[in-house]
Amino acid sequence: MSGGEVALVGTGPGDPDLLTIRALRLIERADVVLYDNLVSPAIMAMVGASTRRVYVGKQRNRHAMRQESINELMVELAREGQRVVRLKGGDPFIFGRGGEEIETLSEQGIRFEVVPGITAASGVAAYAGIPLTHRAYAQACVFITGHLQDGSMNLDWPMLARPRQTIVCYMGFLGLDELCRQLVAHGLPASTPAAIVQQGTQPTQRVVTGTLESLPLLAAQASLRAPTLIIVGDVVRLREKLQWFERRGAAQAEAIESPHSAN
Ligand code: SAH
Repeated sequence: MSGGEVALVGTGPGDPDLLTIRALRLIERADVVLYDNLVSPAIMAMVGASTRRVYVGKQRNRHAMRQESINELMVELAREGQRVVRLKGGDPFIFGRGGEEIETLSEQGIRFEVVPGITAASGVAAYAGIPLTHRAYAQACVFITGHLQDGSMNLDWPMLARPRQTIVCYMGFLGLDELCRQLVAHGLPASTPAAIVQQGTQPTQRVVTGTLESLPLLAAQASLRAPTLIIVGDVVRLREKLQWFERRGAAQAEAIESPHSAN
């Protein structure tokens, strides 16, 4: 049977309203959906009742399915003639192994497409009220992974510890201490503003702000839940003025609690 194909679909950082129209169309007509922990429950709720769901997620150090098996499964399903949708959190090509997943498809001659998604950096920053660039504070923005290898981060510290630059760190929770320490050791002021955001764009979003000096302790005390994103740079200051998501949430909660209030 022919006609099978695979769509590698970015689903954004969690709020289902941030899906692209293309993503939604593909999800609606999929025969089988492959997903992992980064795909929010609200997005999984949009998958049709008759669509098969396969969990291929990974938890730290514990892979439900190895990368090669995921690749092989997608080839197999497409060969059976199925319309396969592989959901990825954020954007498939930003720290998402999207390249590796479609390499096998390409080698095997399977038809595929890639649908970009809103990456955590832009979705989370927008909902936290932290502009990643700003004429007064940052002319550059770098995305890094803080994933620890043998307990340390192998990063270009002199390049990162530059002024007027925002750093967005994915997968950095366990390395937060090391990140802050190295940035200060390489020349950023210990007073540089920094934030960590839990489950950005989702109703459970929480933002902890501090400085390179104070953030590790503040974050530990907050007992945050994954996924979390770290943002470092003077732009973090703007949140005080520009945060809107929590305020709107609070306003809505108030409205629900006191429906007859005059204001
Ligand atoms: N491809 C994804 C990133 C995958 S790496 C993207 O483009 O967004 C996984 C990391 O992304 C997590 O460890 C976390 O740092 C970050 N992340 C993803 N969704 C997030 C969210 N809703 N809130 C905070 N961080 C998030």
